[in-house]
Amino acid sequence: MENNNTCKVCDNAENNKAFVAQELQLGLKDEFDYFECSSCGCVQIKEPPENIGKYYPKDYYSFRIIDSSKKPSLTQKVLFRAGKLGMRCKIKNSNFITNLIGNKLYPYHKWIIKDLIKYDSSILDVGCGDGNLLLKLQKFGFKNLSGADPFIKETIIHNPSLIIQKKYIYELTEQYDFIMFHHSFEHMDNPMKIFNEIYRLLKHNASVLIRIPLASSYAWKKYGKYWVQLDAPRHFYLHTINSISILAKKANLKLYKTEFDSAYTQFTGSEKYLLNLAPTDDKQVFNKKEIARYKKLARQLNKTGEGDSACFYLKKE
Ligand SMILES: [Zn+2]
Repeated sequence: MENNNTCKVCDNAENNKAFVAQELQLGLKDEFDYFECSSCGCVQIKEPPENIGKYYPKDYYSFRIIDSSKKPSLTQKVLFRAGKLGMRCKIKNSNFITNLIGNKLYPYHKWIIKDLIKYDSSILDVGCGDGNLLLKLQKFGFKNLSGADPFIKETIIHNPSLIIQKKYIYELTEQYDFIMFHHSFEHMDNPMKIFNEIYRLLKHNASVLIRIPLASSYAWKKYGKYWVQLDAPRHFYLHTINSISILAKKANLKLYKTEFDSAYTQFTGSEKYLLNLAPTDDKQVFNKKEIARYKKLARQLNKTGEGDSACFYLKKE
């Protein structure tokens, strides 16, 4: 008998645990078949829906067009200058000021690793939506940035040196010093194929950063189909440390650094689903004490490697 619950990461077809997940973020409640691989642990959709566009409404968070006509406030200006200084210190040498200022104000300071990239490194953001992050990096002084997202309406030219191409990763031809996937990889089918594309697009000794939700987490075990980051049907693959290691090995990429960056929203979002509320629902469900407890728990889980989000750094050697 044909078993189409074959894991697309490790090819295991035995004892994979099937379940039905509902679309909860928009509250549509449409149902989708998923399964959890009994070998590598990757949680995956059985078949990506053909009408996936239906689940990405126009105001989906990655596609909000940035209003650049709005003047920044004085506080924003001061924070930006502090962030820029922090970034410069990080790239040039000392991490002290970055840790003090940059990492606190701007999360992307953490992803920029000293010795990995410079201001003139070619950096590609895959699945970047309208390119909001790249625009910020450009303001911080990075000069060679590009983005690609097949789901934007059309190619976006922010300025002559920052273009977001309406393209799939398969269509790109240049090689880069650094490639990033910020919560986009889980939305893509054929993870093995994507990893092979990453290998093709990386220069020798260059790295890729992949930030994704993780099923090898406390939150997945606790909440199952109500886990906020399952996000059916938009998330096709919820990887584990194991499944990412398998992909890396097969694609000849070296996984050399993993950082957990899960947040307290893994609890508040999932608990809201249990209460039949959307994660964005403003209703006051949690008091300050509960939020503080969730924040503490998220920090602990990140330390023990059980947080539900991580940053993976892989290198082409
Ligand atoms: Zn598997």
